[in-house]
Amino acid sequence: MKFIVDVMLGRLARWLRILGYDTIYDAHFTDDELFFKAHQEKRILLTRDSDLAGRMNPQFCLFITEQAVRNQVKQVINHFQLNTEENLFTRCTLCNEVIKSISKNLVEGRVPKFVFDSSQEFYYCEKCDKIYWAGSHIKQVRELLSKLTEQR
Ligand SMILES: [Zn+2]
Repeated sequence: MKFIVDVMLGRLARWLRILGYDTIYDAHFTDDELFFKAHQEKRILLTRDSDLAGRMNPQFCLFITEQAVRNQVKQVINHFQLNTEENLFTRCTLCNEVIKSISKNLVEGRVPKFVFDSSQEFYYCEKCDKIYWAGSHIKQVRELLSKLTEQR
């Protein structure tokens, strides 16, 4: 399942990438571009725009009713019964690329020293030249996800 989100939903896009779902977002996409790309790339459009939602086949669109980001994430997870574990932290949150494992000796000097000393696993986005590691944010994300999904 792949997504495209409208210009109002950048933070939701970031969350879907954290979950490992292929999600495109660009603050400059017009409604026509969103509509066209959703069809061309067979992506589900997530939008806060009821006019745009009305133009879409309901099977390939979800009108986001929630205001707060965490509730938007919950709405999408529940609606599509998303798997929140399988591909967690496999995608770059900035650009949507799949991140790759990188050996520890290649990141020395490129991450803060305490991170280098305390982490064993590192990941790399080729497109953004960004290094990821299993830090405290992972625990926070897991805690939030379990809160969001427990009342399903
Ligand atoms: Zn990236």
